[in-house]
Amino acid sequence: MTTKDNLTAVLYKKEDLRLEQRPIPVPKDDEVLLRMDSVGICGSDVHYLVHGRIAHFVVDKPMVIGHEASGIVDKVGKNVKSLKPGDRVAIEPGVPCRVCTFCKTGKYNLCDEMVFCATPPYDGNLTRYYTHPADFCFKLPDHVSMEEGALLEPLSVGVHACRQANVMIGDSVLILGSGPIGLVNILAAKSMGASTIIITDIVDSRLAKAKELGATHTINTKSITKVKEHIEKLLGDLPNKTIDCVGAEATIRLGIEATRAGGNLVVVGLAADEVKIPMAYALSREITILGVFRYCNDYPLALDIVASGKVNVKPLITHHYTLEETLEAFETARTGRGNAIKVMIHANADYKK
Ligand SMILES: [Zn+2]
Ligand SMILES: [Zn+2]
Repeated sequence: MTTKDNLTAVLYKKEDLRLEQRPIPVPKDDEVLLRMDSVGICGSDVHYLVHGRIAHFVVDKPMVIGHEASGIVDKVGKNVKSLKPGDRVAIEPGVPCRVCTFCKTGKYNLCDEMVFCATPPYDGNLTRYYTHPADFCFKLPDHVSMEEGALLEPLSVGVHACRQANVMIGDSVLILGSGPIGLVNILAAKSMGASTIIITDIVDSRLAKAKELGATHTINTKSITKVKEHIEKLLGDLPNKTIDCVGAEATIRLGIEATRAGGNLVVVGLAADEVKIPMAYALSREITILGVFRYCNDYPLALDIVASGKVNVKPLITHHYTLEETLEAFETARTGRGNAIKVMIHANADYKK
C-alpha cells in the first residue's frame, strides 16, 4: 500500500509553514511505520507558527509540525510483537530516554531527554508516513474512531491534571478557561466522579460547548467580576479542586481565592512566566498548588474512558481539513474563526470531506 507520496507539513520558521515531499522513513527494530490518519492542531502548534518559539524551545531549523495524532500500522520493525500491519493506533507523541531516574521511577514526563513531536528540535507527525516506537502506540478498539484516537492526546492532559488534583467522586471542581484544555478537563473530571463542574471563560460559544460536554455551571468573567462571591452564591460553598487552564496572574490569583481551604489548585496553563500571587493567603488556608507537565501513563486511562463510552470527545472537533489544506486549517485554528475549538487535519491521501 506504500506509495512515494509523503506530503509533510514543515514549519521552517515563524510564519513560514510549507508542504513538501519527504522520503518515507524506515522503521527501526522497535518501531512501526504508520500511515498517518487524523492530526489535531494544538495551541502549541499555532504558537510555534506565530512566535517561532515557546519559552526556551526555539524553531531554528525546519521542523515537522503536529503531535495530536492517530495512524494505521503499515510496517513493523523486527522486534515488534505488540502490533501488526492494519492495526489502528493512537500515538503518544513523547518518547523518553527510559533509563534516567525519572523514567525508572515512572515520572517519564519529567525526563530531560524527552523526544517530543513538534517540540524543537524534534519533528512532529503531520505527514503521510511517520515512524514511532511501538510501545508508545495504543491500539484502538474497532468502535473508537481515528479522530477520537487523535483526541486522546489533549484528553490525556486533562486526565493527568485531574489525577494531580486528586479529583474524586463527589468533588466540586472549578476549571478556569474553556479552551480545548479546559474542555478536556471537564471530561476527565466528570469521568472521575466530580458532581459539580464550574467553568469560566470570556467567550460565550466556548461556555456553551462546556455545558454540552458536562459542565454544571458556566461563568462569563467578562460580565461577572466578583467571581469568587458568585461561585459561593451558586454552590453554597467553594469548590475543593481548581484546575487553571490559563495560567495568567489573574487566574492563578482567582484559583487561590476561589478554592476551599484545604483544597488543591493545579496550574496547567503557562500564560505567564512570573506572577505575583497572595502566597500568605494560600498558605494560611492550606491550599496545595501543583504543577503539571504534559502527561505520564495517562494514555491507557484516556483510551479507556473513551472506549467505554464514559466520555464523548467528538463534540470538541469543529473543523475538518485535508493535509493539502494545512495552511487554511492553521488559519482557522489561529483566528478561531467559525467558533473553532479543535481543528482536525486528515493526513491520509484518500480522505474525502
Ligand atoms: Zn497538544
Ligand atoms: Zn529519562
